[in-house]
Amino acid sequence: MARRRIIAGNWKMNMTPSQAVELCATLKDLVKNDAVDVVYCVPAIDIVPVAEAIKGTNVNLGAENFYIEDKGAFTGEISAPMLKDAGVKYIIIGHSERRDIFGENDILINQKVKKAFASGLTPILCCGESLALREAGTYTEWIKRQISWDLEGVTADQVKELVIAYEPIWAIGTGKTATADQAQEVCKLIRDHIAEMYDAATAEAVRIQYGGSMNAAELLSKPDIDGGLIGGASLKADFGQIVNA
Ligand code: PEP
Repeated sequence: MARRRIIAGNWKMNMTPSQAVELCATLKDLVKNDAVDVVYCVPAIDIVPVAEAIKGTNVNLGAENFYIEDKGAFTGEISAPMLKDAGVKYIIIGHSERRDIFGENDILINQKVKKAFASGLTPILCCGESLALREAGTYTEWIKRQISWDLEGVTADQVKELVIAYEPIWAIGTGKTATADQAQEVCKLIRDHIAEMYDAATAEAVRIQYGGSMNAAELLSKPDIDGGLIGGASLKADFGQIVNA
């Protein structure tokens, strides 16, 4: 069965609520494509206005972060039931900025993946290596280890619904892109690893995105790349070109 392409924008800490609504209006016609799952992953404060702004369009709503408890004394946090109730479908987990700047480790990331599934949200689970690991040649072991840790206790049926984003850290926001062959190599490695951890049907179903200064058309032509997680370019009309690449 062919996997459905998924192009997700990661807005990061950009767009005030009014700018967010304006961006939705700018992109509305540019991202029309019923053959692709289009997702805007937006800052928490933009979730409610963006949910309203994308009503009746083909765009799905995503979030960038949440905490693993349902409610309570966790000042500053937002829960999975809150996201779900606001219309969120996808949630980015394990982005390198959350790992590196906010100290999220694989134990917490694994808890988040399980909590997201339990709450009816679809994780976009990010993995990827630093430049040092790439140059040392140990990046394949590193990525397999991240995937094993982050999916500990996650069922095959859940993994069939999962989205994995391969984002080499050295290509995020740097303008440096992995070549299509480099990206394909790792996306295939991830799929093969899922086959080893689960089975061939699960590996065939899981969707794997590439992310990092994305050069869409060439990357998306590769057999194991099912879409993109897009940072900077998701805030501009360029996002429409990626959706329709
Ligand atoms: C990202 O951080 O998810 C990303 C892919 O960023 P950029 O496209 O800006 O490199």
